[in-house]
Amino acid sequence: MKQRLSILGSTGSIGVQTLDIVTGNPELFEVNSLVAGQNWQLLARQAVEFDVDSVVIADESKYNSLREALAPYPIKVYTGSDAICQVVRSSEVDVVVNALVGYAGLHPTIAAIEAGKKLALANKESLVVGGDLVMRMASERGVPILPIDSEHSAIFQCLVGEQSPIRRLIVTCSGGALRDIPAEQLKDVTPERALQHPQWTMGAKITIDSATLVNKGFEVIEAHWLFGVGAEKISVLIHPQSIVHSMVEFEDGAIKAQLGTPDMHIPISYALMFPQRAATAQERFDFLAHPTLTFAEPDRVKYPALDIAYECMRRGGTASCVMNGSNEVAVAAFLAGKCRFTDITASIEYALGRATFVAKPTLADYEASNAESRALAAEYLKLK
Ligand code: NDP
Repeated sequence: MKQRLSILGSTGSIGVQTLDIVTGNPELFEVNSLVAGQNWQLLARQAVEFDVDSVVIADESKYNSLREALAPYPIKVYTGSDAICQVVRSSEVDVVVNALVGYAGLHPTIAAIEAGKKLALANKESLVVGGDLVMRMASERGVPILPIDSEHSAIFQCLVGEQSPIRRLIVTCSGGALRDIPAEQLKDVTPERALQHPQWTMGAKITIDSATLVNKGFEVIEAHWLFGVGAEKISVLIHPQSIVHSMVEFEDGAIKAQLGTPDMHIPISYALMFPQRAATAQERFDFLAHPTLTFAEPDRVKYPALDIAYECMRRGGTASCVMNGSNEVAVAAFLAGKCRFTDITASIEYALGRATFVAKPTLADYEASNAESRALAAEYLKLK
């Protein structure tokens, strides 16, 4: 039986690579539905190529163009964020690949769990914002969450077959686009410069998050929720070569690592095929071409976002939701040339210092906290 996929964020970096895997494994997968934000042209081409049942374009202003483009085909066309949850819940879907970016991924993650779908999760913001709720619901309903994020896929792979306690998770970090730029020059960095990630080609938001190390902070929070490990047992190591994707240390001192070329097709296919692995014709990793693997401590003064994320994790409740919401607004402002690079972390600190804190949030509390933190970041950045 083929697995029927709903791919959320199909026009983005992870979405496109997920479709590559479908193309390479037509006997294993078929695509039931595709979801995108604005890029209706690419969404229409994907819908026809993969002969899907339905598509959703979140941006309502693109609905008519998409509907016209798909008029000759028997493809259902929807718009709006409610429609995303609707296609996720379809009885024709077995697996939901959530590759949306940002807070927009939370409701579809919850819809997938409520509907009992296997969830291949790239949208780390779902766990950063609502990890407590998401993991509780998934455990109550017995829904598997398979990580796509490369670090978490690495940890997941290291844990297969293990039954002993974890002593430490070691999350590796390339250092982002600005790792060789002195701290005092960060305020003058342009979006173009911050988007030049040394190892990975990814969407704009995660690339900026990598440059501030907000992304690494989010990954620590994500690891906490996925693997049930406390903040004190998760450490971050700068590893500029991005060959070791992360590691697990056990009680006996043994450390397992997952290594390989930085290529998101590997963790995406592992999430889709677990416990099997994809047979690919890709070039094999050559150790002799990478004779030096180096590791260093992150500079916590240059990158305050890492400690902010640890603090949010310790506080729990809505703290990480506030960090996420304010970060989303500030990253968008930075990319639009409306603020400096260093304003991103400053906006997060401003919002965290003022936002309402809810210790045991419901989904409605997350919704309110997200809105409040976005407004606070906009206030700090004096955005209209
Ligand atoms: P991209 O920006 O490349 O793609 C995001 C996708 O989400 C696009 O299809 C976009 O549509 C869609 N989208 C954006 N906003 C909305 C919305 N409000 N409603 C519906 N769809 C929306 O991001 P990435 O693929 O890089 O990242 C996706 C997720 O995966 C993020 O959470 C990221 O942190 C995580 N991740 C990504 C990695 C990577 O290598 N890229 C690695 C590890 C994790 P459109 O473009 O049509 O507007």
